[in-house]
Amino acid sequence: MTTAPAAEFLRRAAEKASDLDHRQIIRRGTDSYDAAAARGQARFSDWQAARERCQRVKWEAVNHLDRYLLEFEQRVKEHGGHVFWAETAEDARKYIADLATSRGVRKIVKSKSMVTEEIHLNSALEKLGIEVFETDLGEFIVQLRNEPPYHIVTPAMHLTRGQIAALFKEKLGGIDTDDPQKLVAAARVALRRAFFSAEMGISGANFLVADSGMISITTNEGNGRLCTTLPRIHVALAGIEKVIPHLQDLAVLWPTLATAGTGQAITSYNTLIGGPRRPGEADGPEEFHVVLVDNGRSELLTDAEQREVLHCIRCGACLNACPVFRNVGGHTYGTTYQGPIGSVLTTHLRGMSEFYHLSYASSLCGACTEVCPVKIELHHHLLQNRRNSVAAGNARLRERLAFKIWRWTVMDAGRFRLMGWFARKTLRTVHSLGLGGSFLDPMRQWTKYRAAPQIPRDSFRALWEKKNGAN
Ligand code: SF4
Repeated sequence: MTTAPAAEFLRRAAEKASDLDHRQIIRRGTDSYDAAAARGQARFSDWQAARERCQRVKWEAVNHLDRYLLEFEQRVKEHGGHVFWAETAEDARKYIADLATSRGVRKIVKSKSMVTEEIHLNSALEKLGIEVFETDLGEFIVQLRNEPPYHIVTPAMHLTRGQIAALFKEKLGGIDTDDPQKLVAAARVALRRAFFSAEMGISGANFLVADSGMISITTNEGNGRLCTTLPRIHVALAGIEKVIPHLQDLAVLWPTLATAGTGQAITSYNTLIGGPRRPGEADGPEEFHVVLVDNGRSELLTDAEQREVLHCIRCGACLNACPVFRNVGGHTYGTTYQGPIGSVLTTHLRGMSEFYHLSYASSLCGACTEVCPVKIELHHHLLQNRRNSVAAGNARLRERLAFKIWRWTVMDAGRFRLMGWFARKTLRTVHSLGLGGSFLDPMRQWTKYRAAPQIPRDSFRALWEKKNGAN
């Protein structure tokens, strides 16, 4: 059964995999992050110990989520903030839309937040006539192009400097340069106007700290601080899995996230926000709201086998390491979260029946698992999803039949030898007679972009015995 998202994925993957310019841009981007991350890891006295520490922190949080979330809520309320529990994306959108309309908000500035992408918040607010400005530079660029983010950390990774220069020339007016500093300056001018006139700022949260009731935001551009302090209302959205037990856990999470994500020793701006402006304070919003988004996460929490997927700190390292992502790129997935973590998570957030194909967008090489700073066994989860998908009846008849024959074959040495002989003979005959038709369709897919291997006359076993003698 090929679902519409699967058909679209295959179409885009074929297109992008044969687009050599696109592949070169992505490789340049991912390679530079990989190299920086490797240099960054060398700064740790023990990188593996840091990963294990992060894994323990997240395990503790995710396995006692109820306790830590309630503690976080209580602390936020003590500081004068509001907490809203959004069971669904619709609940979260409605809460923010109602808040914005009841306070007469016409303009919103946003710092980078994948969960707002997940719940499609911008379009919901724009339908109400509210202007929404993305203020992270990469997000600002893809918003100007009317595109979703390409990568969870670097949303405009797929664009060249020339493409961004052309975009700014068209959309910002009066700027005609490809000098990166001048382009950044032009974006800054456009965004400053929005920062000073917006009534509401929306941010994500990298971590929700239970014992202090603070949210932690990391950015490299300082836009997070402007979004959360200049407008009179600040709304922070976060998935419920973002909670961590203690403030001191950030001592290991901040540098590990920065190193895995971009190779930095520490991200440029790490901000802790603990409520609205208090009497006597110079800046900060009058109102502070935290929206805790579930949207399928509680369901994932009940899955003991895959619960650890909620440990993800969205560093993006698994995308950079994934050979599939590096060839097909982020937009091919057609999902908010791309790459290995997206392929695992999306089946839980949006349903296995429509997105099971993403479990197959992997060579199972394990590179994602190796780089993950919180040690999520990503490739095992992809394999488990394949199993679950087949059990749910999503496999095609010819696939089920092929695996039944394969199983029958490999369970017996004699059968294995016989079927090997039969397959070699059949394929050589089909090739020599120029036959094929639908019989060779799967192979034609395989050979569309690569040379078909020669089909040998003898089996590996026969070649081995010829060379080394039977034993
Ligand atoms: S799964 Fe691991 S490597 Fe991938 S984004 Fe999450 S934390 Fe980073």
